[in-house]
Amino acid sequence: GYRARSAYKLKQLDREVDLLTDGMTVVDLGAAPGGWMQVAAEEVGARGRVVGVDLQRIDYLDGYDAEVETVKGDMTDEDTRDDIKRAAGPGGVDIVVSDMAPNMTGEYSLDHARSVYLARQAFETAQEVLKEGGHFVAKVFDGQDFRGFVDDVEEEFNYVRVMSPDASRESSSELYVVAKSKLDAPVSEGD
Ligand code: SAM
Repeated sequence: GYRARSAYKLKQLDREVDLLTDGMTVVDLGAAPGGWMQVAAEEVGARGRVVGVDLQRIDYLDGYDAEVETVKGDMTDEDTRDDIKRAAGPGGVDIVVSDMAPNMTGEYSLDHARSVYLARQAFETAQEVLKEGGHFVAKVFDGQDFRGFVDDVEEEFNYVRVMSPDASRESSSELYVVAKSKLDAPVSEGD
């Protein structure tokens, strides 16, 4: 079984748009307790690698052929990105997925703003670590800044879809931005 019901959301996204394949290196942000990591480990197999990151400790995952690593860190802290790069290894990252969520206050606009902030941290991380052609998934609570976030993601990837997996229907504001095939890194000025 899976450690979290949220595992089925990633399974559904993967089934619909084909995200995870054999041998991939996956970075999973907001990974505790580890449900998405389990799904990723199954899909990437023995030649794959899964790096899970969370503020909370993630209990050791065994029984998978994939190489699995965990990083305890805060994604709003720049140092965590360096830890991720180290854990992902020199081969580069094929997909960054984020199921991060803020602690809910119940105040809708605040929860929305915090969620967009976390999704933007994930997006920046993806831009730093992904290979060309890599994929990105981020959970965001819908609200006024949602469209602006999607627009920014669209500039960096070939294909972007907003999805709402069945397993998250009970909280109707929860959406997943699914982006495939990261475009060529633009040549920076001065190169
Ligand atoms: N996908 C996970 C699974 O299948 O087991 C469930 C993730 S849970 C919905 C959201 C997680 O985001 C929480 O474990 C929380 O600690 C984490 N999180 C929230 N803010 C974070 C941050 N700034 N840095 C790292 N993780 C964060």
